[in-house]
Amino acid sequence: MIKVTVWNEYIHEIEQPEVAEIYPNGIHGCIAEFLGTNEDITVRTATLSQPEHGLSEELLSDTDVLIWWGHRAHEKVDDAVVQRVQRHVLGGMGLVALHSAHHSKLMKALLGTTLNLKWRHGDRERIWCAMPSHPIAQGVPMHFELPMEEMYGEPFDIPNPDVTIFLGWFAGGEVFRSGVTFTRGMGRIFYFQPGHEEYPIYHDKNIQRVITNGVRWVYQPYLREHSTIAVENSAPLER
Ligand code: ZN
Repeated sequence: MIKVTVWNEYIHEIEQPEVAEIYPNGIHGCIAEFLGTNEDITVRTATLSQPEHGLSEELLSDTDVLIWWGHRAHEKVDDAVVQRVQRHVLGGMGLVALHSAHHSKLMKALLGTTLNLKWRHGDRERIWCAMPSHPIAQGVPMHFELPMEEMYGEPFDIPNPDVTIFLGWFAGGEVFRSGVTFTRGMGRIFYFQPGHEEYPIYHDKNIQRVITNGVRWVYQPYLREHSTIAVENSAPLER
């Protein structure tokens, strides 16, 4: 069983009725719902307003894969919680960072760059699969369309990704590295661009497939049981 925790700042859905209409149970609720239909995945959710943002040491120790959605309240996420989550990723917990999570304190801490990009409201996006052999691309068409999505365009200030799996093209002409992977410490990270709150992106079957694949790919069962990157005095082995 893959133990997934879906974290969402959960602000737009409370303050904007048009967003609540699309996600009556929150973005986290929608993601938890489609992930929960898989027999190998169990899902919990956590949000910003909970004590410790719902991300206690106990919960993170019992989480194999963390999904992160944040936008308006990046600065309200407590530094101690960011450090705690970062430590778990470095120790082997998988991370799937969605849409505007690119600017979260967590992603900046893990990747070390500004993660700045070009953006514009409301455009049609075509997602291209650039690496069909990758596990995250399995069952996903070679290209598919999102009738409306926020435009994210290059240059995207990230370190060179391990793999670029998806490229986004927008009707305005821009392109973007929409699905990229990184390794930090023992942890696998998958960043996936679609998911602006004003559009029903997480109801899209292709998007759901990519995120589900992403969860399975960042999950490293052996490391979750044996992970340690602690500095330890090492006794010599027998020669
Ligand atoms: Zn957005």
